[in-house]
Amino acid sequence: MKFNTSLLHGTAVNDKYGATQQPIYQVSAFAHDSAETLEKVFSNHAPGYAYSRIGNPTVDAFEKRIAGLEGGIGAVACSSGMSAVTMSLLNILRSGDEVIAGAGLFGGTIDLFGDLAQFGITVKFVDSVTAESTAPLINERTRAVFTELIGNPKLDVVDIKSVAEVCHANSIPLIIDSTTATPYLARPFEYGADIVVHSASKYINGGGNSIAGVIIDSGRFRWDTAKFPAFDGYKAFGKFAYLAKLRNGFWRNAGVCLSPFNAYMCSVGLETMGLRMDRICENAKQLAEHLQSLDGVTVNYPALESSPYYPLVRSQLGGRGGGILTIRTGSKEKAFRLINSLKYALIATNIGDIRTLVIHPASTIYLHSDKEQREQAGVYDDTIRVSVGIEDIDDLKNDFENAIGS
Ligand SMILES: *Cc1c(COP(=O)(O)O)cnc(C)c1O
Repeated sequence: MKFNTSLLHGTAVNDKYGATQQPIYQVSAFAHDSAETLEKVFSNHAPGYAYSRIGNPTVDAFEKRIAGLEGGIGAVACSSGMSAVTMSLLNILRSGDEVIAGAGLFGGTIDLFGDLAQFGITVKFVDSVTAESTAPLINERTRAVFTELIGNPKLDVVDIKSVAEVCHANSIPLIIDSTTATPYLARPFEYGADIVVHSASKYINGGGNSIAGVIIDSGRFRWDTAKFPAFDGYKAFGKFAYLAKLRNGFWRNAGVCLSPFNAYMCSVGLETMGLRMDRICENAKQLAEHLQSLDGVTVNYPALESSPYYPLVRSQLGGRGGGILTIRTGSKEKAFRLINSLKYALIATNIGDIRTLVIHPASTIYLHSDKEQREQAGVYDDTIRVSVGIEDIDDLKNDFENAIGS
């Protein structure tokens, strides 16, 4: 089955009436015919559902579809991309542990890493995650490397294979936030990543109508209990240890479940991801090339031949650069004027919508970061981030050209 076919037929809908979509089980609890049955469901000795914070058929169906698309052994859906990022790490970290991360990460993730300091967890940032930048920072306290496949908004592309090799040589997992790449551009497990997280609010949903996140496990990382003592009680789960620990522990107890309704919206959106990404990547490339030809702005887009990441885009992302580009205008005033002059692009803090969206990251998403953090993330006072939609490309080109000239 190829990608678009697998989006539709990769996992069967389990419904006695033949519903073509997994129906929405919009309930909190599931009633059982006896106390004995509920006891069995609670202790995982019988299939079934007890309470939607712990499991729900609509959410389950979404998890299975995503796990299948990424080629993982299972997935756990979360209330947001941020809760997926948080849980992917808290599932393995303890006080005293260290994580290595890219400085070009999503602003919310950088803020979260600051929050983790109060629990004794230290995040060490490298400019961009490469084998060379990461290896020297690994020590006996390092427990994971975390990075985005295509950094949002830095747009640096990670060479997963070489970073995974460094991680595995040191017995630590590589966690990839693949939100901006989607499984359509690359499946990080094929290159050696161990855990993948997504903000499903973005390209998976596609319509900008739900906040959602998901964690997928490759099942390949061996959680040595000398290094990861919290996995002690999970040996019996074999390759499912990470997912079992997540479901039985932090994820369930923190209450970060995805709502059945949002799982449904993301499942429906997912089905057109291939079509949308084709169009979005093509539009983004054409818009980037057009902007590059204009005076007054500079453009950053990884699929431009002038980008240092172009070779990786070709070797790892099938030549596609994703839907985000950034523009520099020369000053904050010019950036604001450009943003305010656009007719079609909406001024909004989101990516992955079918509508083109623009934002000035320095005054919004990176409000809590200092100048150095911002610049390491590729965010300057004059930077505009564009999340390209599926509009007709001529309209987008004209809109930006007119706004630049205004
Ligand atoms: C948006 C985003 C997140 C956070 O996701 P939410 O669904 O907004 O919580 C995390 N990582 C990346 C790369 C994102 O773009």
